[in-house]
Amino acid sequence: MMQSCIHTHTVFCDGKSTMEEMASAARNAGIKTLGFSGHSYDYTDDFGIKSEDMPAYRAEAERVRQLFGGEPDVLCGIELDNFTHDEFDLSGIEYVICSVHGVFDAEGRKHVIDGSPKRLLQAVDEGFGGSFKRLYTAYYEQYVSFIKNKKPDIAGHFDLITKYNEKFSFFDDREEGYKQLALSALDAVLDLGVVFELNTGAIARGHRSLPYPADFLLQRILQRNGKVIITTDAHSAEKLTYWAAEAEDYLKAIGFKEVYELGRNGFYGRKL
Ligand SMILES: [Zn+2]
Ligand SMILES: [Zn+2]
Repeated sequence: MMQSCIHTHTVFCDGKSTMEEMASAARNAGIKTLGFSGHSYDYTDDFGIKSEDMPAYRAEAERVRQLFGGEPDVLCGIELDNFTHDEFDLSGIEYVICSVHGVFDAEGRKHVIDGSPKRLLQAVDEGFGGSFKRLYTAYYEQYVSFIKNKKPDIAGHFDLITKYNEKFSFFDDREEGYKQLALSALDAVLDLGVVFELNTGAIARGHRSLPYPADFLLQRILQRNGKVIITTDAHSAEKLTYWAAEAEDYLKAIGFKEVYELGRNGFYGRKL
């Protein structure tokens, strides 16, 4: 069972539970390290934790950490969005997950890719001339440059662009062209040594039956000895460890012998 549960959202952003409720659920599930990764403020959508609210966010994480006395230990992280200003207050933040939820078009306008299938269609029509190839090309380019720029601890939901595409409703992600593009982006992130998350959040929310990233990407991560941490992207205490056990079997079936966990002293491997 997972020892660290470090991609979580609370009432500080779009989560339903308080930090204390999340910590209680973590204690009940035997989690050793609970990490909060609230959304950093996205200035284009007025969404996420504002820079001026970060002191309160850190203080509450610290209060909960002391309250729970190490069972679980509590880390205060952030899910850093690519639409967050560079001046965003990251002081005291113990780890960073970088995530891309929207893509700039050639005119510098932002298009959200994970809001709803309707919003995805709007994005491709309004920003990319109706071409999913142009959209996903821009997505991966911007993903890689964001990761290179920020050098986070964790690369968030690497192929989020496929969120609504499990039935290939929008584009065929089995196509060689798509795969090569995604793989070269993956290689660029692997070169930096950033840990990938196996993110089960979309399963919990009923959008997908499998986690991110896709099989062929996980196989490349395995081949190149890349590191994977299981995350649930939980937005409520009830879903804190949703699909975490299945995720281990899933990784084992691909051939992974080890998964990574995050503790106060950094990442460590755990045998599967
Ligand atoms: Zn996210
Ligand atoms: Zn998240």
